[in-house]
Amino acid sequence: MKLYRDEAVVLRTQKIGEADRVITLLTRTNGRVRAVAKGVRRTSSRFGGRLEPCMLADVQLHRGRSLDVVTQVVTLAPYARAVADDYPRYTAAAAMLETAERLTPEEREPATQQFLLLVGGLRALVGPPHAPVRRPAGLVLDAFILRSTAVAGWGASFDACARCGAPGPHRAFAVAAGGSVCSSCRPPGASAPSPATLQLLGALLAGDWDVALASTERDRREASGLAAAHLQWHLERGVRSLPFVDRTPEAPVADVPDTDVPDHRTGGPRPDDAGEPAPEEALLDAEVLEQLAPEPPARTAERVRSAQAVAAGARA
Ligand SMILES: [Zn+2]
Repeated sequence: MKLYRDEAVVLRTQKIGEADRVITLLTRTNGRVRAVAKGVRRTSSRFGGRLEPCMLADVQLHRGRSLDVVTQVVTLAPYARAVADDYPRYTAAAAMLETAERLTPEEREPATQQFLLLVGGLRALVGPPHAPVRRPAGLVLDAFILRSTAVAGWGASFDACARCGAPGPHRAFAVAAGGSVCSSCRPPGASAPSPATLQLLGALLAGDWDVALASTERDRREASGLAAAHLQWHLERGVRSLPFVDRTPEAPVADVPDTDVPDHRTGGPRPDDAGEPAPEEALLDAEVLEQLAPEPPARTAERVRSAQAVAAGARA
């Protein structure tokens, strides 16, 4: 099937050509997908503001060789508008989107748990429309970081020893070891955060908001520093493994002609169904891929830290 539908959060948009954008989406069932939204920058675009970062939408896409094409968009939750006029929430949302992108390195690899965490995080950030108290943006961001890294296979321990499993709580904490460490496993250079900070981190990971909301400013600051360090350490480690990825081109897969999507210019099958990339698409790909190189992990962690600082500043 060349046409498919999915729910998706817009992670990022990049200008391309005269009026188009490449939209990076985290979908519920198809993982991270990049798609071209044609004409989206024209004021007359039928997509309008529905493809802004943070938007949750029901999208219809036409599968392409490396980039899909957006054919329909229905907004499910306009999170972008909800965070637009609240700087701490906006920066926390931006850090969440970037983290979600970094934690889903393989395009089209299903990442439903990451999708659900991101939607849950954005919803918590925005809060119910008439809620008297919304959760602090910094805590929502830190909970998201701890849970999404755990889903990516990098769960931190804030109680039992991350190395030998000895029941905690323990005094020492080492990001490289995976969190709390007992006195026998403690590596050189381990830090000694306050017990309340470790309790807060554990509560954020578990979603225990009663405990998390009872924390002090000092513990929140220390916790957000450890959450950012945890994220950065794993992102850098993840990227360091990239040079070892097998880049041998895969054997071409036979492309079954699909005539139910006529080409808009000729009314016939799309040229790419014949096995040759359409010249327009090939050109677009080369141009786009150059622009879409991922940001270095340190930059993501830096943005997370500055978002945490903004959110903390708003609380103070
Ligand atoms: Zn131990």
